[in-house]
Amino acid sequence: MGSTTPARVAVVGSGVAGLTAAYVAAGTARVTLYEADDRLGGHADTHRVETATGTLAIDTGFIVHNQRTYPTLLRLFAELGVQTQDSEMSMSIRDDASGLEWAGALGRRGLFPTRAHLARPAYLRMLTEIPRFHRRARALLATGEADPASDGTTLRAFLDAGGFSGDFRRHFMEPVVAAVWSCDPELALDYPARYLFTFLQHHGMLAIFGSPPWRTVTGGSGTYVERVAARLHEVRTGTKVTSVAETPTGVEVTDGNGGVETYDAVVVATHPGQALAMLADPTPAQREVLGAMPYSPNTALLHTDASLLPHARNARASWNFRRPEAARGHVTVTYDLTRLQRLPTETHYLVTLGGEHLVDPATVIDRMEYEHPLYTPASVAAQRRLPEIATDRLAFAGAYHGWGFHEDGARSGAAAAARLGLTWQPSGDRGASAQRPETPEPATGVYATTIRHTRRTPFRRSFENHSHTWLVDLDDLPQHGPLAPVLGRFEARDHLGDPHRTIRENVATFLAKHGVALDGPAGRGRVLMAAHPRAFGYCFNPISVFWCLDATGDRIATVVEVHNTYGDRHAYLVKPDPQGRARVGKAMYVSPFHGTDGSYDLAVPVPGDRLHVAVSLHTDDGATFSASLTGARLPGGATGPGSRRRALRAAPAALRGSLLIRAHGLRLWARRLPVRQRPQHHQEGV
Ligand SMILES: Cc1cc2nc3c(=O)[nH]c(=O)nc-3n(C[C@H](O)[C@H](O)[C@H](O)COP(=O)(O)OP(=O)(O)OC[C@H]3O[C@@H](n4cnc5c(N)ncnc54)[C@H](O)[C@@H]3O)c2cc1C
Repeated sequence: MGSTTPARVAVVGSGVAGLTAAYVAAGTARVTLYEADDRLGGHADTHRVETATGTLAIDTGFIVHNQRTYPTLLRLFAELGVQTQDSEMSMSIRDDASGLEWAGALGRRGLFPTRAHLARPAYLRMLTEIPRFHRRARALLATGEADPASDGTTLRAFLDAGGFSGDFRRHFMEPVVAAVWSCDPELALDYPARYLFTFLQHHGMLAIFGSPPWRTVTGGSGTYVERVAARLHEVRTGTKVTSVAETPTGVEVTDGNGGVETYDAVVVATHPGQALAMLADPTPAQREVLGAMPYSPNTALLHTDASLLPHARNARASWNFRRPEAARGHVTVTYDLTRLQRLPTETHYLVTLGGEHLVDPATVIDRMEYEHPLYTPASVAAQRRLPEIATDRLAFAGAYHGWGFHEDGARSGAAAAARLGLTWQPSGDRGASAQRPETPEPATGVYATTIRHTRRTPFRRSFENHSHTWLVDLDDLPQHGPLAPVLGRFEARDHLGDPHRTIRENVATFLAKHGVALDGPAGRGRVLMAAHPRAFGYCFNPISVFWCLDATGDRIATVVEVHNTYGDRHAYLVKPDPQGRARVGKAMYVSPFHGTDGSYDLAVPVPGDRLHVAVSLHTDDGATFSASLTGARLPGGATGPGSRRRALRAAPAALRGSLLIRAHGLRLWARRLPVRQRPQHHQEGV
């Protein structure tokens, strides 16, 4: 984010990812939460079931967490005062074709629920394969790749290489993966092995012992959902967001009820396909990444039909995997909530995923539709690219940013808020700085930037290129001595005013002409300029921005200087609001495809660690064209150690940018975009 913290934030989606982002953002900003459903929580879904002895709060989505691997969620719970309690975590496997039923975590009685188990040699051999699998998986993690996501070896290939038996796959491996991720057992073997083992290791599941104790939320997970919602400024349930469009001045959110509102920043915390569908103008990276992370739908039933559990009582566990005789590709996992949540009842309240046809309809209390992320080598590769798709105003969150669990959702929500410049305040400080924009001390240097142009009419066309942009102090310009022709030099002839004076003198003169004094009784003002220098004998800046600060560091004006490829330039004096937004009438012909009619919406917050400059042209015929320049500052300043190395990286930027803009213009011309005649331009201040 630029130097200003967003003051108005929208969060789309009220699962754990959206709730965490909203909670963090509400510490300093005004937050509006949009939820398509009539209830909040997404996969945090607590059902209130009336019984003869009272109301039970039963969790049908998110159920368990632990104190070792859920730090973000625990911080949220602690700040909200949410109570948790011990759970009982165990898993059973039931195979109707062979009649095998067993439950490893229940000790001897679960491993051998009947005497007949002792007479099953294939079963006994499979049990010996489990510690061998743990050893081999740990050995894989101990070697090779530092990054689990970059190894495409599937679980199937890993098991083939290790010579694991068919029984081991059928009665252990597929059920574990399918139950933990609620996926089709057939697909379980396509999971990327290293990625999967990293998760299992993290949760103490690559050893017979060592899994952390698991816990549930006392009173159901809805408790924390309600507490987050109570801390937000505005919550809109039953409000599906249909479009999210970045504009130079913010992010426009349109909902299915006809509402259109602009926010300083937005967190989209839905599943990736839903996120992509709502982006009005996705970048190629957003399209590729969000489009490559599939989810699979899963119907879940809340019921009391105990026939879904193993026949042998000793093999009944809290998670029960069942492979029905005729099933191919059907996950049948039944959670026993009475056991998991230690509900005060003798009745087994169960949630079954995927086995709708097996459940006695007379016992069904509710039916839910959930969706789970599917992990394949391609989706894991896309996941690594997620940091690429956020912008300074639009960030994404969801459990798909990690392994698909509640902690992944919570962590991604906090990270999305941080990406927008919203820090998680210690609980005592929450709300203390709400509505107060921050202005950190601007620091000069080179920014690695992305330039985007977007045209929506008469056809849609985007252009994106990566570049480098300098932020320099006009009183302390980089000096590269004899290397200046290559590394670049900031010269007065490339900007407004008299080429024989300094750039600073010209800016001060321009300001004075508009009644603004750069230097005052309090001392000398400071001007920071974002621009390319002249390198290799060439300079071209489609836009240069001058932030003019008085001696105390307060912004007194901003000058936005626009250059066209015909050598004309125009300087606009703007007085942006605290968020860096301003509107000015267009005064110069910039592109052959636009006249001089219309106005610019500008976003020019004072740069901090990030640079954000955006322009949106609204022409009189209703067309819009947007351009933005965003990026992060490279470590080190504009002068001092390492500045020559950074200068070398930035030196070709003007030349390259100019060529790309011309090539883009030719492509538009080839598509017969009408060309507008260029009027004579009065050179402002020259
Ligand atoms: C049955 C089940 C059991 C689970 N058990 C556990 C467990 O025990 N422990 C664990 O750690 N994890 C568990 N998980 C996984 C975990 O709970 C989820 O992955 C996580 O909660 C997902 O959070 P999320 O915020 O990414 O998405 P969701 O919770 O799915 O939230 C997304 C929200 O976005 C909303 N939305 C979508 N489109 C729009 C739109 N256009 N406009 C507005 N709103 C929109 C949706 O309605 C939804 O509310 C379980 C999941 C399921 C389904």
